Amino acid sequence: MRRYNRIRRRLGIADFVLGLGLLIVLLATGWTARLRDLAYLGAGQIYVLAVFFYVAMLTVINKLLGLGLDYYGFRVEHRFQLSNQRLRSWVRDQVKGWLVGLVIGAILAELVYATIRAAPRFWWLIAWAAFIVLYVFFAQIAPVVLFPLFYKFKPLENEALKERLMRLSERAGTRVKGVYEWKLSEKSRKANAALAGLGATRRIILADTLLEKYTDDEIEAILAHELGHHVHRHIPKGILVHAGITFIGFWAANQILHFAIERLHMFEQLSDFANLPLIMLVSAVLSFLLMPALNAYSRYNERQADRYSYTAIPSVAPFISGMNKLADQNLAERQPSRLVEVLFHSHPPIAKRIQAAETWLRSHAGVHG
Ligand SMILES: [Zn+2]
Repeated sequence: MRRYNRIRRRLGIADFVLGLGLLIVLLATGWTARLRDLAYLGAGQIYVLAVFFYVAMLTVINKLLGLGLDYYGFRVEHRFQLSNQRLRSWVRDQVKGWLVGLVIGAILAELVYATIRAAPRFWWLIAWAAFIVLYVFFAQIAPVVLFPLFYKFKPLENEALKERLMRLSERAGTRVKGVYEWKLSEKSRKANAALAGLGATRRIILADTLLEKYTDDEIEAILAHELGHHVHRHIPKGILVHAGITFIGFWAANQILHFAIERLHMFEQLSDFANLPLIMLVSAVLSFLLMPALNAYSRYNERQADRYSYTAIPSVAPFISGMNKLADQNLAERQPSRLVEVLFHSHPPIAKRIQAAETWLRSHAGVHG
């Protein structure tokens, strides 16, 4: 279990370093200018098309560079018997993932350079506002457009469970738009549940691997946790946090672009899309620096959702047994070092979540029988 988590962590770090390295090499060697010239050549000097070709080449290079690590990650999941995905299906997922990345990346890049050309002084403010709108849009369509590209979903059929969830959500004073069964078992042996979507697409999704092996009481406890995210409005709050961070990111990108153009003479002008790796570098460094803070915020939300679930279910015992099962099934590190928790974990360690539930149980003994 420790070894699995250590490998996964190192894979994540290696992947990040590789991506960062690519951006730095492109900028330091000037190869980004050659890619831009190539893109212009292919696009017949049409700017919008050239931006697209440039992004396409960048995503291809990035994918090819990271393919070894991706494949190693696939092998690791098998080695620890956490995956039953066939190689062919994995390759299909890689291609789909690359395509989704290309479409989203191209939309974002076109938007950035269109605003740069239209409003060179305030492009970063306009692009920031547009990014937030797009972010909300993607959060909304993700469960109906993006997730189904990789997994099958169907409305939950277990009537008894559905009934329980409706009662749970009524007690919470909220309405969830739907509960879906997520066919995770086709690819993985892990179990998972999540709250996804926004507005009309807001839904709870439950992996079939969870529905199979957990008692109704345990599933209810996990549902109650997801409902806790909903009750505490974690998705809209997350969007606000995201908006604040991207604001800083765009401001910094604008400053650094000007510095690179005026002082370092790396590029002729803002609209030279060979500077895209520099914008991406700013975003990568910013997310890296903010990761511990964002993870801390996420762990805070998770604890809040856990506390909600204790009060929403008749007994905390299934919450504890469900957590134990999840930890075993997903090979989760029950008690990682404090440093690993602070740097990498978006959820509190299972040991702490169970401990918190037990503490709550003791202090509320007699209230919830
Ligand atoms: Zn959660």
